[in-house]
Amino acid sequence: MKGSKNKKLIVILLGPPGSGKGTQAKLLQKKFKLEYLGSGDILRQRRKRGDFTGKKLIKVMTRGELVPSFVISKLLTDKLEKLKNLPKINGFILDGWARILTEAELIDESLDWYEWQKNVKAILIDISDRESFDRLTKRRICKDCGRLIPWVGEFKSPRRCDKCGGPLVSRADDKPRAIKKRLEEFKEETKPVIDYYKKQGRLIKINGKQSIEDVFKDILKALKK
Ligand code: AMP
Repeated sequence: MKGSKNKKLIVILLGPPGSGKGTQAKLLQKKFKLEYLGSGDILRQRRKRGDFTGKKLIKVMTRGELVPSFVISKLLTDKLEKLKNLPKINGFILDGWARILTEAELIDESLDWYEWQKNVKAILIDISDRESFDRLTKRRICKDCGRLIPWVGEFKSPRRCDKCGGPLVSRADDKPRAIKKRLEEFKEETKPVIDYYKKQGRLIKINGKQSIEDVFKDILKALKK
């Protein structure tokens, strides 16, 4: 990556639900030895506390609605503070954050606050609504360990998790009504985020309707520029 010596690589992954952000995040994490901050995972973890916010998160997320920014802000700050205390990191991936403009501004504010020398890239993995809908209705999650099994075009209707043997089910927010809501949220709320990064010259747009390997190759190519 040109001019990125000693700078933390900060990748902000954007894309409609089912675009493969999580899958690409894992590949990027491995390749560049980055830390991973996935908003969906962090929220699902937070729900387990079973307190007022925990219970409310279950309701809001099951309907496919966005979680308010003040909750997101707290979770993000807690995580960034922890990263700041790590002795050495190469950078990190923000997967699923900046779903609305306020969050994008909040991320910029917090990145300044923590004074990282940084190379920030916003990667948009682009797929159509149709593709997103198809992928989400076909993907499964392990009821026991939470492993997400993406649909990769050769879905063989697995019933058990390949990691722990737990039963595979549809995620509660992968039901048609919730998917519709999530796609609407993406159109209305996340498009301004995309424009925000575009205006700053930090946006990389990738065609997400390719194999996992080809999407990853395109991302690496774009990051080198
Ligand atoms: P995901 O696992 O990224 O598909 O997120 C699952 C759900 O968590 C979303 O449908 C939202 O309800 C909520 N969520 C995740 N990330 C955010 C975020 N950055 N801002 C607001 N809500 C979020």
